[in-house]
Amino acid sequence: MACKQQWQGVSTSSGSGGIVVEPNWRKVRHFEGGKYPKPVRLFLSLSCQHCEEPACAQACPTRRYIKRDPEWIRRQPWIKERSGKYYVVISPSREEEIPDNLIMSNGRLLEDGLVIYNDVIFGLEGRGDYRNHRCIQCGLCEKECPYQVPKKNPNPQDGHDPRWEKCIGCCTRVQQGMPPACVQNCMGLALEMKPLEVLKGLTSEVPGFRYEGTKPSVRFIPVRFPLPENITETTNL
Ligand code: SF4
Ligand code: SF4
Ligand code: SF4
Repeated sequence: MACKQQWQGVSTSSGSGGIVVEPNWRKVRHFEGGKYPKPVRLFLSLSCQHCEEPACAQACPTRRYIKRDPEWIRRQPWIKERSGKYYVVISPSREEEIPDNLIMSNGRLLEDGLVIYNDVIFGLEGRGDYRNHRCIQCGLCEKECPYQVPKKNPNPQDGHDPRWEKCIGCCTRVQQGMPPACVQNCMGLALEMKPLEVLKGLTSEVPGFRYEGTKPSVRFIPVRFPLPENITETTNL
């Protein structure tokens, strides 16, 4: 709900009367296991895992995704630096400058690790200019993400084409020193965003959640009671 409120009705700089997007990028996902008479049902609130090696970014043929990690950015053969500016090489004959406010602060690359994409952030007040979305609707980001996080917004009301979207870690809020909307509004205080190095005692593996080669950045407080091994996700994605 907080995610929806934060990002719903994001206005566009296209002057087309504003867009209405219906994001709900955080979902409470359902897991079940055990057996009668002791069945177990668990819930995990999950959004994008902002992976250390994001498969979405490698899969996207138009190079729409960027991870705000200087080391990762420098490793990508399709991101070039020239005179302190960064460019996405989309094809041998086409490259686009990454707007400074997406990845830079005070002349330095941001390193919050958030996996963002090009269209959501730049534009009016740092919020959506969907004319530049570059999404060709191939669905590869969703297919390659081990958690099928990116989802198609089939009916954006901004006059532009459908596009794949996902949680952007409330990067504009984070850049201003604020917590993500879902964190701020979680009544159970179940969500936090912290640097990975201070979460060392926590785990990325709980029954039902698969730790994948993309190295998800999500961490969980370990459960204090034994769980059955056969827990599987039953969410209808
Ligand atoms: S969870 Fe999926 S969409 Fe999110 S960063 Fe990882 S690979 Fe990309
Ligand atoms: S659906 Fe769009 S964002 Fe996803 S991989 Fe294809 S072009 Fe990239
Ligand atoms: S971090 Fe922001 S964009 Fe991501 S799920 Fe939470 S509210 Fe939505």
